Amino acid sequence: MDCIFCQIRDGQIPSTRVYEDALTLAFMDINPVNEGHLLIISKTHAETIYDMSPPDLAAVSATAKKMAEAIRQALHSEGLNLYQANGAAASQVVPHFHLHLIPRWKGDGKGFDWKLVKGDPERIRVTAEKIRAQVPTERT
Ligand SMILES: [Zn+2]
Repeated sequence: MDCIFCQIRDGQIPSTRVYEDALTLAFMDINPVNEGHLLIISKTHAETIYDMSPPDLAAVSATAKKMAEAIRQALHSEGLNLYQANGAAASQVVPHFHLHLIPRWKGDGKGFDWKLVKGDPERIRVTAEKIRAQVPTERT
């Protein structure tokens, strides 16, 4: 297996770790968008959200909360972006699930901004119906 994030998890590739627990690992991004930019991965190899188990995903989320608090305390950041890509069409580069935490400051010139163009309400409604019809129902 030559997954770069599995190799980082196993210490075969050096990384700057900031947090680790049984299910997740947080380490600094080597190409930071802003100071403090870090990544959280699941220790279990899963390529995308489609492959993630709900417990692993929940663990990543819990670690994101811890890291968000730590980043804000440490860097006095004014905002924080969470960014996560699934598949080449979404610009995923490393095929191992990872969540970016990117601290933000007002006027930092960085951005994930897209133009706000008002959507057609009817089309939005029809799309919502299609999605709603596919939401897995809870087992009781
Ligand atoms: Zn991996």
